[in-house]
Amino acid sequence: MLNNRQERRLATQWTVFPTRLPLIRRRCLRCSSAEFLTHGKFRVNANHRLLDVWLLALCAAGCGETVKLTVMERANVRTIDPSDLMRFHGNDPGLAADVLGDPMLLRRNGVTLDWGGAWTLRKAAADGSPAEVIDTSVRFARPIPIKVATLLAAGLEGSRSGVHRLAVAGRLSTPRRLTATVSGDFPFTLRLPATAGDPPGEPDRPSGSIPAGTVRR
Ligand SMILES: [Zn+2]
Repeated sequence: MLNNRQERRLATQWTVFPTRLPLIRRRCLRCSSAEFLTHGKFRVNANHRLLDVWLLALCAAGCGETVKLTVMERANVRTIDPSDLMRFHGNDPGLAADVLGDPMLLRRNGVTLDWGGAWTLRKAAADGSPAEVIDTSVRFARPIPIKVATLLAAGLEGSRSGVHRLAVAGRLSTPRRLTATVSGDFPFTLRLPATAGDPPGEPDRPSGSIPAGTVRR
């Protein structure tokens, strides 16, 4: 069908923000819990010019068990940025987020992260102009791994199956696979239905389909 009318397009942005530090997956040796939480407390031990730095985490079940994740081991004090050292001593939660964002550190300590319920999406305010096609760029304030379909379902306030249906119907397109896990910026395009009264992602909404990650705390 030939359509020489200009499509009304709108460009907007969503940003993924952390709402708290992620849980750290590790089996507790004192109880049956498999997760630890950290409040960003570090322990620094200096031995002559050599420094050990650990990030402390408490058993999430509250049994009192503490684990220490090795951040630095016998590091020469001269190789460490003095401002970083001050942040370790100051128990900086932003520094804890940086430390947990290092895949090497996670591997060395044999832990993985659980970001469920620890992120939220902020959408740029819409200017209210009518559009048929919306181009959204999704940005990550921190590299938080999230499934594409989960993120889009949260943003479109629908279900993951609704997101898949929109893609199958050709109304939603993105260079990323919907089943992929992303932690970096990507775009997607949404074509709004010609008829009113069909909000995107709405077709079905089984209970619990909105991921916990969308809940503001
Ligand atoms: Zn425990």
